[in-house]
Parts: sequence; C-alpha cells; structure tokens
Amino acid sequence: MEIQFPVIIHGTIWSRLLLAAVLAAVAGCDRQGLDVEQQRKQTPVVSPANAEPLGPEVDIRVLLLQADRVKLTCPGSYTIWKVAGDKKLADLPGQSETTLTFAHGSWQLTDRQGTALFSAPAGAGDILEIRPGPNSLIAVGTEKTMTYRGRVRCILQGDSRIAVVNVLPIESYLDGVVGAEMWSHWQMEALCCQSIASRTYALYQIHRRQGRGHWDLRSTQNSQVYRGLTGENQRVAQAVRQTRSMVLACGPAGKEKIFPAYFSAICGGHTEDAQVVFKQDLEPLKGRKCPYCEKSAPDDYYRWPELELSKELVSRKLLERYSSLKDLKAIVDIEVVQKSEYGRVEKLSLTGSQGLKRTIAAEPFRLAITSAEKPLRSSWYRLKDGRSVWKFQNGRGFGHGVGMCQYGCEQMARQGSNCRTILQHYYPQAILVRAYSGYGAN
Ligand SMILES: [Zn+2]
Repeated sequence: MEIQFPVIIHGTIWSRLLLAAVLAAVAGCDRQGLDVEQQRKQTPVVSPANAEPLGPEVDIRVLLLQADRVKLTCPGSYTIWKVAGDKKLADLPGQSETTLTFAHGSWQLTDRQGTALFSAPAGAGDILEIRPGPNSLIAVGTEKTMTYRGRVRCILQGDSRIAVVNVLPIESYLDGVVGAEMWSHWQMEALCCQSIASRTYALYQIHRRQGRGHWDLRSTQNSQVYRGLTGENQRVAQAVRQTRSMVLACGPAGKEKIFPAYFSAICGGHTEDAQVVFKQDLEPLKGRKCPYCEKSAPDDYYRWPELELSKELVSRKLLERYSSLKDLKAIVDIEVVQKSEYGRVEKLSLTGSQGLKRTIAAEPFRLAITSAEKPLRSSWYRLKDGRSVWKFQNGRGFGHGVGMCQYGCEQMARQGSNCRTILQHYYPQAILVRAYSGYGAN
C-alpha cells in the first residue's frame, strides 16, 4: 500500500529558501513579440536575492518533428505569419485537417480534398509561424496528430523537409513534460522536484543555445519527453504552479548559475558523477549514495537479470550507429577498460577483425545496442564473454544515473521528505533561485 504524505509547499518555506538564494534571471527571453531571437543573445544575469526578477517568463522552442508532409489541425481561426519581418500572410477560418508541404518553390497548405487553402513562395531557411486564435489550440503530426499550446513554427530544411517547432511559455511546456517524465500519481513533493529539475534543465538549454539554431531542445528522451496537451494532468499542473519559476543554481556565492539538472529513472544505489557520463565537472552532479530507489523501484529494474546479446548483433549495431568505427570491419572482442568510482562501466575497448582497437564511452555503447526487446538498462554491469554472446551480468539501475534518481525521489517523498530536502540530497551544494517573475501558488 502506498503511504501518502500530501505535503503542500507553503509560501513561507519558499521565502525561507529565498533568503539564502540569488536570482538567476534569464535576461531578455521575452515571450512578447517575435524579437525573441535578438533578445536571447543577451548575457544571462545573476542578481542579489533581494532584487526583483529581471524580465518575464521565457519562451522555449521545442522540436516536435521533421517530415516532408505535416498534418495541421486548428479547429478555431488562425493566422499564418512569415517570421522574417513578422509579416502576416493569411487569416484563415478553423479547419478539421490540413496538410503543409513545400513544392515548386512554395509553401502549400491544402485541405482533406486537396483544395489549396494557402500558398506562398519561399526559399531555403524560410520560417512560417502558425498562431491559433484566442482559446484555440493547434494539433500537429505526420500520421497521428497531437495537440499543443502556443505557436507552431514550420522551418524549411533543404528542398522539401519541414522542421516543426512548438514555441510556448516555459511553464506551459512543463505542464506537458513533468507527467511524461514521472508518474502523475506519485507524491506531490516528488512532482515538485521533477518540475524544478525539468525547468532547470530546460532553462539551461535556452542559455546554452542563446537563440542560435531553430530550437532549444527536442521533445524526446534526447532532451526530455514532452507530450503537449496529452501529457497534461491536474496534479502535474499543481506541482508546476507551486514551483513556478524556481530553478537550481550552483557556483561561488553571488555568481551562481543554473546547471543541467540531469535526472534518471533508477540509479541502482548510487548516482553517477556527471564527469563520467557527460564530461561536466559540477559540484551538485557528483555521485550520491541513494538508499531509496531499492524500496520503490520494480525488482527487475533495481537489479536486472542477466542479459545476453549475440556478438554479431552487437558488432552490427555499433558499426551501423557510429561511422567512426567502420574501419574495425567487425567487432570481435570487447573489454571493459575503465570503471567509475561507483562501479559503472565508463569505457570499453573494441577490437576489430584485423586487430584495430578503438575505445568507446559506456553510454554511447549502451544506447547503440539496447532495444525494446532486449534492453541494456544501464551501464552498471559486469561484461562476460559467452562464446557467441556477450553476457551483461550483475546489472543495476535504469538510465544514465546522473543527478536526481526519480524512484529514489518518490521514495524520499513517501517517507516524508519535502521537495527541498530531496533536491538537497540529489543536487548537493545547489541552491534554489527564482528565474523570472512570480513564484509558487501560495
Ligand atoms: Zn536511486
């Protein structure tokens, strides 16, 4: 039976936190108007705790898909804009389903019967923006569509490929992320932790991109999973609202900066140092002992059963994925050459059929050979040669293991820890700061 500890984060708790906190303002990420790109180029500012936040909530740009044909549905009226010059091109009534393509030097929007609704000449790199009218939303996809808040940008790549990017306020984005990254029925304190970690990660990506490129992150596990309206849930919305604008920061006093607040599903007993996996040396992302996920994670995930993968399959998948390994011809031997302080595999040596050797980091190795049918759940294992197969034994955990352990976070919340205590455990030395105006529901 699940033990419930419905702990509400009160304004007073946040206020106490803020006494010691500094303000990490994401200067210039203005969601009003379309000069976001220009404003994003400004340098982030860190101000003293008693200063008012600089600037409003920020917008985020999320890549949803890349395809030659894009299905768009907007039940209410909508407008189409050319982003360069912020020029309105069309004012259209609601449509059940339309298809956007690029052919013969023009954007083409057609209805189900193939009737042209809109066309406009364009060149490489051209960007259209579709803005739903008031109280309307837009659905986008290739086969099936999913509904999103905010605006949708369609960016022409090459001759006909279209990248579809959702542009929306970061808090609305988080409503579609937190429930996709964590079970929405979990403890409210755990959902609050996830909201803060996801917000921090997203803001860090915005900082990193500084408006460069067409998107800040992807909607998949490569960044963090975002499902738009489908991922929304009342409990998740509550957690996002309660932690509004709160992010994690670290660094010398007065010069704190937000950092990529990584998280993973099940650490297996000890989180990993970000230096090992992501080559990032940050105090809050050093490994931490986690006695919690063992109690909440499914047994066959905390310690997973032996996995056997055929040597031929492992060789083929590695060579397919990484062109730099092609000169190995076929991989005939694999050896663990480096392990992290906490026991995860860090580097492996691959031997080719003609004796050539290459080293590969454990995570790229794992991601190349894992599959839904035969998942290699983590890089915490012992590798054994089993004639025609590689045996992955004594496996522990699920995911890269860096930062907050989500099942550990849930277990801490079940045992009564509040959001601040949990975050302090998984991100030691980090402080909570306010990134933009408004914080907490209380
Ligand atoms: Zn754990």
